[in-house]
This record gives sequence, C-alpha cells and structure tokens, in this order.
Amino acid sequence: MIVMSGAEVAAKLEAELKVEAQAWRAQGRVATLAAVQVGDDPASSSYVRSKLKMAERIGIITRGVHLPADVEQARVEAEIQRLNEDPSVHGILCQLPLPGRMDARAVTNRIAPQKDVDGLTAASAGLLAQGTPSFVPCTPAGILLMLTHYGIRTAGRTAVVIGRSNIVGRPLSILLSLPGWDATVVLCHSRTPDLKEHARRAEILVAAVGKPEFVTADMVREGATVIDVGINRVPDPARPKGYRLCGDVDYARVAPHCGAITPVPGGVGLMTVAVLMQNTLHAVRLQQG
Ligand code: NAD
Repeated sequence: MIVMSGAEVAAKLEAELKVEAQAWRAQGRVATLAAVQVGDDPASSSYVRSKLKMAERIGIITRGVHLPADVEQARVEAEIQRLNEDPSVHGILCQLPLPGRMDARAVTNRIAPQKDVDGLTAASAGLLAQGTPSFVPCTPAGILLMLTHYGIRTAGRTAVVIGRSNIVGRPLSILLSLPGWDATVVLCHSRTPDLKEHARRAEILVAAVGKPEFVTADMVREGATVIDVGINRVPDPARPKGYRLCGDVDYARVAPHCGAITPVPGGVGLMTVAVLMQNTLHAVRLQQG
C-alpha cells in the first residue's frame, strides 16, 4: 500500500516554482498574489497564512487584504475591483467561506478571469466544462498531480467522486473525464441512493464530503486508490489546540484495503496550496506573456 505524500509532491512542485519565479525576478517580472479574507474564522486564517507563507518562500510578493466580518458585500467587491485594476497584482483569491449573509458566487465572480488563481469564477468553470481549462481549481488540480506523481493510471478506470461542490467534486469529476485522463466518472452526492454500491465499484475513490471518517472500509474496493479531501476539526480536549484534524475517510480501517491512499493531514491540503502558486505564475504568464 502506497501512502501518497502531499508533503513530498508539494515540496517538489514548490522547488520547481521557486526556480521559475526567481528566473523571472531576474528579468524584472515579479509575481504578486493578493488574498482577500473576510472575518476571522480560525480555519480560514490558517489557510490564508499557509498560502502567503508558501508564496513568500517561492518569491511571490503577497498582499493580504483582511476585512472585518461585518463588512458590506459591496466593499468586498470594491476591494476585488481595485485589485483587478492594479497591474502589479497578478493573482487574486477570495478565501471561502464568506459570511453566510454574502452572495459568495457574486463576490467570486468579480475576480477578473485572468487573475482567477483559484479557478472559481464562472469564466474559469465554463472553460473547464468545455474541456479547455485556463485556471483549474487548486484542489482538483493538486489531486491530479498526486495521481501522476505516484503513477496511478486513470484512463479506462472507474473513478467515483463523492461530493459535488464547485470547489472540489464537480471540477474534479470533469477533469477526470477529459481526454488525457479518460476515467469513467461517477459523481455521487447527498441525494445519491446506494452510495455504498457506487463507492465499492471505484478503482479511484475520492471523498470530498466534509464529514469525519465518512468513508468506511466496507465502501472501498480491495486495491483501490483512495483520495481523502476532507479536512475536519474534531473536538479533542486532550490535544493542545482542543481538536484533531481528520479526513472524510476512516484511514485506520480503510488503508489496509487500499492500493494507495492520501493521509490527512499531509495529503491533498498541501497540494492545494502548491497549485495556487502554480496558478499565480500562470497568471503572470497570461498577463505579461
Ligand atoms: P461542500 O460542503 O461544499 O460539499 C460537500 C459535498 O458533499 C456536497 O456536494 C454534498 O452533496 C456531499 N455530501 C454531503 N453529505 C453527503 C452524504 N451523506 N452522502 C454523499 N454525499 C454527501 O464541501 P467542499 O467544499 O467540497 O469540501 C469537502 C471537504 O473537503 C471539507 O472537509 C473541506 O474542508 C475539505 N476541503 C479540503 C481542501 C483541501 O485542500 N484538502 C480543499 C477544499 C475543501
């Protein structure tokens, strides 16, 4: 059984991107990434911190735009517009979730398509759906990089993706079905009857549900590749932070049946951050040639 290390693959990608970013800097092309965060959700703050830290390690200039939780939606959109119009900013991300009263789709869609490093605007999603992606959402792209790194073939195989969010499940299901990846894809969600039966047929099983240890051993085909996207904070008073992180897969019981599996932490999450950096350099290329 292979434990697919996001740490290893992300470190390799980070090193490659650093070389590229530094070569560009020597030519006076300095990549800049802006991160818009609304409020102080601890998980969001920690994601934004790790994104900005990796950017700085690579040599990408960062711009954090932190707005209070009670800010008007119009102000968030105005900030994004300001960043759209700033030629020194190449990539813009808006950390989700936004406060529930906001229309997250409207806010995200304000990001200029050529700066959409999270790949979440309607323009990016449309290009992906047509099979000609520009910016691919970071988590699905990271998953594909991990499959490639570990030599896991998708062509001709049955891939079952559990979860149909715009950030993970739906774009991943499209990507896996594109020429080049050529998987036969089943996209399951909260209204799928007989989920277990679908999951058990998967040669590649992806869990992006947001429910701790949702995928149990009886849902996994012997020898399957299992990708655990979930990042769940489970209360644990014995831990210094008062919680432990766990995925959407019951790792201890599922792993012995797998051909390959991603751990949580140390799996897909790190890839998400590394691909964001890759997308930022792609944005520079789009804007500066
Ligand atoms: P989401 O809440 O937007 O979507 C969850 C999906 O799960 C929905 O499409 C829903 O239909 C499906 N679902 C819910 N209950 C189900 C059930 N009983 N049976 C089948 N399907 C069910 O979540 P998301 O944004 O896609 O995130 C999913 C998980 O991945 C979360 O834990 C999140 O924190 C994590 N995540 C991790 C990364 C990363 O970098 N590793 C990135 C994004 C999200």
